[in-house]
Amino acid sequence: MSENTKHVIIVGGGIMGASSAYYLSKHDGYNITVIEETDIACAASGKAGGFLALDWNDDTKCLKELSRASFKLHQELAQELDGFHTYGYRPVETYSIIFDTSRDTTPNNPDPNSLNWIKNNTVQSQEKIGTEKTTAQLHPELFTRKLIDEAEKTGRVKVLVGRAVSELLFNGRIVTGVKLSDGEELYADKVVVCMGPWSGKLEFPNNERIPVKGSHVHSIVLKPNCLIPAQAIFAAMLTNSTTAEPEVYPRSDGTVYICGANDKEPLPKSAALVSVDKKSIDKLIQQAANVSSSLSAKNAQLIKEQACYLPLSEITNLPIIGPHSNYKELYLATGHSFWGILNAPITGKIISEWIVYNSVTSINKSNYFLP
Ligand SMILES: Cc1cc2nc3c(=O)[nH]c(=O)nc-3n(C[C@H](O)[C@H](O)[C@H](O)COP(=O)(O)OP(=O)(O)OC[C@H]3O[C@@H](n4cnc5c(N)ncnc54)[C@H](O)[C@@H]3O)c2cc1C
Repeated sequence: MSENTKHVIIVGGGIMGASSAYYLSKHDGYNITVIEETDIACAASGKAGGFLALDWNDDTKCLKELSRASFKLHQELAQELDGFHTYGYRPVETYSIIFDTSRDTTPNNPDPNSLNWIKNNTVQSQEKIGTEKTTAQLHPELFTRKLIDEAEKTGRVKVLVGRAVSELLFNGRIVTGVKLSDGEELYADKVVVCMGPWSGKLEFPNNERIPVKGSHVHSIVLKPNCLIPAQAIFAAMLTNSTTAEPEVYPRSDGTVYICGANDKEPLPKSAALVSVDKKSIDKLIQQAANVSSSLSAKNAQLIKEQACYLPLSEITNLPIIGPHSNYKELYLATGHSFWGILNAPITGKIISEWIVYNSVTSINKSNYFLP
């Protein structure tokens, strides 16, 4: 190791930590330590839908360029890393469907070539909202793990799982490393905070905090006994009194992921302590059956019941990416809300550019939020 080699600590082994490690590990001159409290991709990055859209953020000025650039990076990564086989990357068709579940229903037979797997007799309206050119999907846990594995292969990255960062170390306004919950201090030339919703819990001098909070969401994964086509569904489910809006993503491994609404369950101390509420899971099981009889309890096995937290940025919902304005050698990659899987590659690339070049070349700086 040359004496000019810099040590970078990345806190958090979710998709932002993995992507930052992946892109930074492509550069000579950096030794990188990723510190993860629970497990790689144990939180939202492993429990998200993994849906990607090219142009769904076009209306948000700051996100348009970010999301378009990241969708393209996902396409490139899928080529480089054999994404279809290693993490289930594939283009999908996407539909918005309104179901009126108060209507009569009869079972239907799935047809891999059309939207016939949906319960047609409860459909009030349906619209194609994404084509195979504009929407895609991946398995987020497998993708996050793949990025970490590739980064480790360079020999520049060490991953510490089961160690928690309790605080940052400072020399005045310069960050010099991290203190672990067992009291050990690790020194670094630069620290990147990728702690998802827990970023907002990190304590700073003067009671400052990173403006991110968590929002609790449940999801399930089903294994139907027939193959469901590559058609993502954004459903609106009307009953006499309520509307539910489950998202349904059939995956290339033959499973189907379904997530629902958020609730007010407060953020626990760590990802290992996230609670799963049986009633919320039961609602998702019912909603799945209302989308298709192929997803009913009779025809599909429930293989995962889970919950996780969206990292919600408190700054008009924009992700927080780049060097901290008040503390030197500190970088943030957090607050990506609903689009963290989509925007992870460009975020990791931006972080690596800030660290290596002290500027960003792959995207216009005014198009994302600088902390
Ligand atoms: C139900 C649901 C569905 C979603 N679907 C999609 C989708 O289809 N498409 C999309 O683009 N986005 C989706 N998202 C959003 C996406 O999942 C998130 O934006 C993204 O995963 C956030 O990644 P992260 O790395 O910032 O945070 P996280 O995944 O939360 O990772 C943070 C990591 O930091 C670790 N950590 C916390 N504290 C410490 C500490 N003190 N020391 C060390 N490590 C620590 C945690 O254990 C965790 O592993 C979805 C989110 C949810 C909740």
